[in-house]
Amino acid sequence: MPRRSLSQASFYDPELLLPKCLEPGTVPWLLARFRSKLFPAWLFKGWRGEGRRGRKAWPAVTLVVLLLLRWTEEGLSRLGSTKRAQTDLLWRAAMGLQLGAPTPDEKTLREFEIFLRGRHSGSGVPRYLLFHEHVVRLCIEAGVVGEDHDWTMDSTPMWCYGAVLDTVRLLGDGTRRLAQRWAAACKVSLAEVAEQWSVPHVCGKSTKGYFHVDWRDATARAEVFDTVAQGAIRAVESVRRHIQVVRSSKRKGLLKLSRQLLRTIRDDLDTDKQGRLVVAERVAKDRVISLTDPQARHGRKSKSSTFNGFKLHLIGDLVSGLISAVAVTTGNTHDGAVANRLIRRAKALHEEIEQVLADTAYGGAALRHRVRGESQVHLLSPPPANMRSEGRLGRDTIEIDFLAQTATCAAGVTTTDHEMVWSSEHQVHVSAFKWPKQTCRDCELREACCGKRQGGHRVRLHPYEQELRQAREDWSRPEVRAAYRRRSECERLVHRATRHGARRARSWGLAQAQLQAHAIAMTCNLKLLAKALAQETIQNRAVA
Ligand code: SF4
Repeated sequence: MPRRSLSQASFYDPELLLPKCLEPGTVPWLLARFRSKLFPAWLFKGWRGEGRRGRKAWPAVTLVVLLLLRWTEEGLSRLGSTKRAQTDLLWRAAMGLQLGAPTPDEKTLREFEIFLRGRHSGSGVPRYLLFHEHVVRLCIEAGVVGEDHDWTMDSTPMWCYGAVLDTVRLLGDGTRRLAQRWAAACKVSLAEVAEQWSVPHVCGKSTKGYFHVDWRDATARAEVFDTVAQGAIRAVESVRRHIQVVRSSKRKGLLKLSRQLLRTIRDDLDTDKQGRLVVAERVAKDRVISLTDPQARHGRKSKSSTFNGFKLHLIGDLVSGLISAVAVTTGNTHDGAVANRLIRRAKALHEEIEQVLADTAYGGAALRHRVRGESQVHLLSPPPANMRSEGRLGRDTIEIDFLAQTATCAAGVTTTDHEMVWSSEHQVHVSAFKWPKQTCRDCELREACCGKRQGGHRVRLHPYEQELRQAREDWSRPEVRAAYRRRSECERLVHRATRHGARRARSWGLAQAQLQAHAIAMTCNLKLLAKALAQETIQNRAVA
């Protein structure tokens, strides 16, 4: 897009005041020069103000530029970004706003984010996902991904925005919130509700501060837990009994909070010998950890390192740095659970992906099988270790002919006794082989093979035993290990996202975290596109 001549320029144009503010090859430069071409109208179909009817609204392109600029540095809050847009010449030039002209406010930006989280009318896919895919396509078309490419995937913690609470605060603060909402819905005071439900602690500023006990004393602590839990149960019972009294618009929120309180009681508490509700000596599988961010979960990065909130998964090219697919899940979701979906999305955008480097978390045979079957992509990751007790022969010492359905043990005895048995671990039927009792009894390797078990040796295979064996065989080859060494560079790809604010969610909820992650990935990709276009412009000028 050619720059305007001096006679065409307005005195209020930011570029006139600061002519060199837009440095070629940067995201603001790209947005200022190409924003109308980068974001086609079909992406924002349905945004109020785009049609002829309805009240006027900010153009979607201006808002999308503001949304992307928000994540160009370390990530700003919504309010922070709108304030900066009022005064920053660079940002105003990128958004196409003149000096002194109005700027979108925080509410408009929030509404636009809600719009982007909605599903596109044509495809039924969330708009931010379509938008991200559109940016990836632009990058690929501009030649960001060269002939030399190496794809990799990984995950990283994304801390939640809401406060993470312990059990007593989850119950105490939750009951207070329920009482406050109930008081507002019934137009009575909080003190009246507290008296009705016999939960005086809801009138205190903080749950823990209300009970003047020594929190190191286990007996005192147990008394408080029981009081708070019984209070929560009474509150939920009362809400459920009298829910018809309040307006229908308030009922959903009150019942949702009641369910959340009951879930915390079920997950976190047990009954002791005296019939009191005390903190359970276990951790529930999908334990809620925050009142304000109920989708956040405890996660584990390694055996010793834990985090609270969500997990960001991404797949990208190590060479160019392009992030082609992103997803955010709860913190306790296994890495392998979204791997297939991400690879499928990345493959749909870039046909030439043949191999993806990934760590041990993605090494399962079932995942390898699905990825190969659905996307024709080879997952290069370390296979699961072969588990065997000390001094015992492992399953890897048995040779299996999968076609003939025969197995040959370490002593060289071949069996054809094959059957399909139900595996409760994998919830499918799996192959099992059995050797004759007589042969095993006289065998020299009996102790190492069967241990103390009587009868003939039996072995039950993994549902994807063939995949597993192939992966282990591949992994033993030096050239495969050498190719895998590049995977550590994936940390650079993760760092590209986290240094733009992906380490912490800037709003409540998983849906908002998804939008944030996609906006950050788009900003990272637009940076690459800006560099490619700037390079092209320089080359064109040189040729001319
Ligand atoms: S005990 Fe049976 S299965 Fe095991 S090595 Fe000996 S013959 Fe083979």
